[in-house]
Amino acid sequence: MTFSGLRVVKEALTGHKGWKPLWRNPEPKPSYDVVVVGGGGHGLATAYTLAATYGITNVAVLEKGWLGSGNIGRNTTIIRSNYLLPGNQPFYEFSMKLWERQEQDLNFNSMVSQRGIINLFHTDGQRDAYRRRGNAMHLSGADGRLLTREELREKVPFLNFDNARFPIKGGLMQSRAGTARHDGVAWGYARAADMRGVDIIQNCEVTGFRMEGGRVTGVETTRGTIGAGKVGVAVAGSSSRVMAMAGMRLPIESHVLQAFVSEGLKPTIPGVVTFGAGHFYVSQSDKGGLVFGGDLDGYNSYAQRGGLPTVEDVIEGGMALMPMIGRARLLRSWGGIMDMSMDGSPIIDRTHIDGLYFNGGWCYGGFKATPASGYAFAHLLATDTPHETARAYRFDRFTRGHVIDEKGVGAQPNLH
Ligand SMILES: Cc1cc2nc3c(=O)[nH]c(=O)nc-3n(C[C@H](O)[C@H](O)[C@H](O)COP(=O)(O)OP(=O)(O)OC[C@H]3O[C@@H](n4cnc5c(N)ncnc54)[C@H](O)[C@@H]3O)c2cc1C
Repeated sequence: MTFSGLRVVKEALTGHKGWKPLWRNPEPKPSYDVVVVGGGGHGLATAYTLAATYGITNVAVLEKGWLGSGNIGRNTTIIRSNYLLPGNQPFYEFSMKLWERQEQDLNFNSMVSQRGIINLFHTDGQRDAYRRRGNAMHLSGADGRLLTREELREKVPFLNFDNARFPIKGGLMQSRAGTARHDGVAWGYARAADMRGVDIIQNCEVTGFRMEGGRVTGVETTRGTIGAGKVGVAVAGSSSRVMAMAGMRLPIESHVLQAFVSEGLKPTIPGVVTFGAGHFYVSQSDKGGLVFGGDLDGYNSYAQRGGLPTVEDVIEGGMALMPMIGRARLLRSWGGIMDMSMDGSPIIDRTHIDGLYFNGGWCYGGFKATPASGYAFAHLLATDTPHETARAYRFDRFTRGHVIDEKGVGAQPNLH
């Protein structure tokens, strides 16, 4: 079933009786060429790319809950490619380019909206750092420019420009950045993968790996054993737990990150704005809610909910940046489990076990990476070589010392 304007008109005139479920609900087959563990954004994008780009369609995505129950349906929807380091920036710019054509590729409205992101700076040193970051962005073909205080006053007049402690001096803007509807992205990939023959199997938890002679031959699941030529694990916040079943200990800790949504307001915020003197960022959804967040809760956890001290901390950041937020009522908040790596950057790599591949360590930046992560992981699964934009995302960078520490805070996952 394809979507088009004509189709919408036809269904409207015929009582909407022709719409079908977006994907099938198949029983698992005894075996597949590739089994992808985890039906989040990255797992689904991987399965889609395996089928659409590499012609590998005998693929299953095994999801322990329902599609969208993980971080893909819990994030604050920001997409951007404004990184600094050479290991990261080309990858995220590749992802941005895939976002720009995603709705056409998937024939699905994932509400990609390039409304821009502004990273505010409050000191001269911070301005220099953002100038450097902007230059790095240009080197990978991304857009970015510094905004003066006066330009900012025009775009976002409601900010507290003259805050005595954190005066706003300017910002780094990427116009092509923006937001996308997070669960819509999962549905779009699921539908497009299913249409190409991929089996998406929900309520199917992987509970172990089958190995023979140092090679993975399948997975144990709550719905029985499923054989596999190759297994790709993309389970985000559950990475350490799942890979422990294969005897691997990862350079990853799991932490909680919370998100917040206010009541619906008239259009106020033109794009995404991030505070440079604390951890607070905000955008406005198409329904009018202010969508915002800040720091991790700061302790290891596998709970999909957070604690009140972080709520207070995030709201304090919001009040310092835009005091008017104090008049909005908070409607909802929730948490997601972040797979925080030791250097804040992801891993897309083979493991020491033949046929077992890993994708994770996305920290709180994996939503924007979804299209490129799926592409690079599918490339690795299909060709056994890393995709050119993901060459730096190897396990051995931690033993070689070639870490990709975007924030420069060292091996402390909760600080990245
Ligand atoms: C509050 C919050 C805000 C965020 N904001 C942003 C943002 O603005 N921009 C951005 O780029 N990123 C953001 N992120 C990060 C981003 O959401 C994640 O990095 C990304 O979604 C992780 O990849 P995923 O979609 O594949 O994960 P998930 O959706 O979590 O997918 C993993 C799946 O694996 C499944 N699974 C786990 N164990 C098993 C098992 N044993 N068997 C089978 N299935 C299993 C889980 O149920 C889950 O569905 C945010 C995250 C949170 C929580």
